[in-house]
Amino acid sequence: MTQYEERVVVTGGGGFVGSHLCERLLREGFAVVCIDDFSTGSVCNVEPLDGHSGFQLLEADVSTGFDIRGAVDAVLHLASPASPVDYLRRPLETMRAGSTGTQHALDLACRKGARFLLASTSEVYGDPQVHPQPESYWGHVNPVGPRSVYDEAKRFSEALTVAHRDARGLDARIVRIFNTFGPHMRADDGRMIPNFIRQAIAGEPLTVAGDGSQTRSLCYVSDTVDGILRLLWAPGEQGPVNIGGIHEMTVLATAEMIRSLVGSSSSIEFVARPQDDPGLRRPDISRAERSLGWRPAVSIEAGIKRTIDWFLENSILLGS
Ligand code: NAD
Ligand code: UDP
Repeated sequence: MTQYEERVVVTGGGGFVGSHLCERLLREGFAVVCIDDFSTGSVCNVEPLDGHSGFQLLEADVSTGFDIRGAVDAVLHLASPASPVDYLRRPLETMRAGSTGTQHALDLACRKGARFLLASTSEVYGDPQVHPQPESYWGHVNPVGPRSVYDEAKRFSEALTVAHRDARGLDARIVRIFNTFGPHMRADDGRMIPNFIRQAIAGEPLTVAGDGSQTRSLCYVSDTVDGILRLLWAPGEQGPVNIGGIHEMTVLATAEMIRSLVGSSSSIEFVARPQDDPGLRRPDISRAERSLGWRPAVSIEAGIKRTIDWFLENSILLGS
């Protein structure tokens, strides 16, 4: 492919996953338009890309509408708060990003004749009663619980995406991302990995929710980005496809692993468990394996070491 022959719009490109996607797309020769309002992301994530001739940054709120001049080949819609702490603090903005924000991103793809990909989430399965979770599972979501602003917004955005596929003939794809971690996570975004790393480095107690027996299956960000791009260009697959780690760990074991990798003597402090916090989570990734030839390549331990190193190198983000 000639340099910048194809142009990709990434909404939420200033966030954790989005900034890695922008970087990888530029490295592969795509021109990238990053749209972000920096409500939960950080301009620091995309500053290194700013001088790049193929990179364009548009500071805008996707929920109030936006337009892009010129041709667009693909729209990747990631703009939404994603950490529970962030979306609980911004409930209305989260619902707007999933509804009107998704509508505006879909409209852009339709206007430009571009391919569309929605970043959905394992949270559409809620607190699952089927384990591990295949894409065919409809989920177990409390529609009026505190997490519903995120879960239901994502479920709505999936429905809206499929409706555009059916009613307007849009080539629209859906990826359901499971807990992803790595560099560029905000130290204060409240998610388990940045919290535990920040606390272990600072020698503070690691705050484990409940008794820490709830599980998550972590995936390093380069693997998640690889899965997203494989789905974007896959000839016969529009999803939903689960992309996530396969090694399920308890939250307590994750805290202990991080404490040991940091070499910290922090204690563990058991704190209240959030309402509707899912008890078990692990993706069935057989669809991604079969149709995208994807499975995670980076071990949890290697990924956590890289993330700790990044937090240490960027100690300003830790407030030290
Ligand atoms: P993030 O908060 O780091 O990134 C989201 C980005 O979207 C931020 O830069 C934020 O400023 C931007 N944004 C939010 N609302 C916006 C709006 N109205 N207009 C413009 N920009 C807006 O979160 P992340 O972890 O990188 O998640 C990115 C996407 O992936 C989200 O859609 C999330 O639901 C999905 N996802 C992530 C994970 C994960 O483990 N990281 C898991 C499942 C799904
Ligand atoms: N968690 C925790 N301590 C923290 C932050 C999170 O024990 O400081 C727990 C949280 O209750 C959940 C798990 O870790 O059981 C993963 O939470 P996270 O916010 O990372 O992602 P989620 O999967 O809930 O979206």
